[in-house]
Amino acid sequence: MANNNDVIGYIHSVDSFGAVDGPGIRFVVFLQGCPLRCLYCHNPDSWKFKEGQKRSANDLMQEILGYKSYIRRGGVTLSGGEPFAQMEFVKALLSLCREHGIHTAVDTSGAIPLEVSKEGIDLADMLLLDLKAIDPQECLSLTGQDNRHALQTLAYCEQTGKKIWLRHVCVPGYTLDSGKLAQMADYLKSFQCVDRVELIPFHQMGSYKWEYLDTPYRLGAVEPPSAEEMEQAKELFRTRGLNAV
Ligand code: SF4
Repeated sequence: MANNNDVIGYIHSVDSFGAVDGPGIRFVVFLQGCPLRCLYCHNPDSWKFKEGQKRSANDLMQEILGYKSYIRRGGVTLSGGEPFAQMEFVKALLSLCREHGIHTAVDTSGAIPLEVSKEGIDLADMLLLDLKAIDPQECLSLTGQDNRHALQTLAYCEQTGKKIWLRHVCVPGYTLDSGKLAQMADYLKSFQCVDRVELIPFHQMGSYKWEYLDTPYRLGAVEPPSAEEMEQAKELFRTRGLNAV
């Protein structure tokens, strides 16, 4: 069996002081490569596989350990891109974190089939699951892939009691729609594993990257939602007993 020294991952970037990707202050590792093409992606530079910085899991763990006192009430989050697209690396890093008593979260779109992602889910302390849409067709038109793997991931977390912070990006004219949001909340309300629902307002901060990559960006005219619209969206989840923030 290969030891952890041999497991190489392609890393987009790291943030040693992340405050928005899971509980507490976290060391966030953004992995390179994503199979989806979300219309509102703010990291299109993380799409291509086998690009970015090549790091071994052990080498990255040494860097993480340098921040152990800062992240003692938080932990490590693997984000992307899509972390579960680099399963061997993710498993190695999650195992190392576990050995060092560091809490782990994986920020995933659920795009990877469960038979591939299962071991990674088992090794992580929690998931941040970015559910793009509850309707399969809408998911397909938003991201290029339907939501069957994401829903199977959710069902597996329910079955195994894996904690989830569920995320959903609210895009005016697309996903910020009371009917669609109510449908999602109705679907989620019976899941005990969903500890909170994070509704994330669409923003334009990554649009320049699309231009830089010479990729057509279709949401250039979409304005971010207002604070009031976001509150109304959260209320749809709260009235169904979900902890929406
Ligand atoms: S899953 Fe994330 S990284 Fe991948 S295209 Fe969608 S928003 Fe971008």
